[in-house]
Amino acid sequence: MNKPTPGNIFIISAASGTGKTTLVSRLLSAHADVRVSISHTTRSPREGERNGEHYYFVGTAEFEDMIGKGEFLEHADVFGNYYGTSFSGLQALQREGFDVILEIDVQGADQVRRALPEAVSIFILPPSFAVLSERLRGRNTDSAEVIEKRLRQARGEIEQSLLFDYVVVNRDLAEAEAQLSAIIRSQRQTQARQKNFIEGLLSENF
Ligand code: 5GP
Repeated sequence: MNKPTPGNIFIISAASGTGKTTLVSRLLSAHADVRVSISHTTRSPREGERNGEHYYFVGTAEFEDMIGKGEFLEHADVFGNYYGTSFSGLQALQREGFDVILEIDVQGADQVRRALPEAVSIFILPPSFAVLSERLRGRNTDSAEVIEKRLRQARGEIEQSLLFDYVVVNRDLAEAEAQLSAIIRSQRQTQARQKNFIEGLLSENF
């Protein structure tokens, strides 16, 4: 009997407004064996967001307590709020054999790359700054002040794409989704991922 191989970890980052959340939810619908790690955050829920589904919404004291106890694989201050990936949530998904997506910012990506060099990192780019600015304004979820702040941050975040393994340009949702799927599928066929299968095969009697 082959030992189960724990799932792959994919870091997906982008400047906000690039369509990352939409792309990730399309990927999840298309792949039953891929899950997204649910982060903790101190920001307030947006309309329609539910605790334990989109994020675990916690207070600053609780978040800082979790940092103190070493419960986060990575955590960062993004636009004045804490965001973090807990070890426990990630490990539970991986143990069950799911491929896990960490939808996190570039600071978190940097920390995960150091802690888990086997993680595969993907950066999603907008086709242009003009398109990014249009998408951010059209989203209507954040104040003008927050949008302004996010646009200023975008260039710095996009510069960080040079540190990622893969880059996908979101010109068209279906095309970008297909490219992300191809990256996820290809990681399942690496020799390292197939090692348990190979060993099981070689241990067969014939
Ligand atoms: P939003 O508030 O729009 O949901 O997310 C803002 C930014 O925080 C996005 O770039 C998102 O990817 C990032 N983010 C969400 N969860 C985490 C997390 O657990 N860790 C880090 N470092 N960033 C996160």
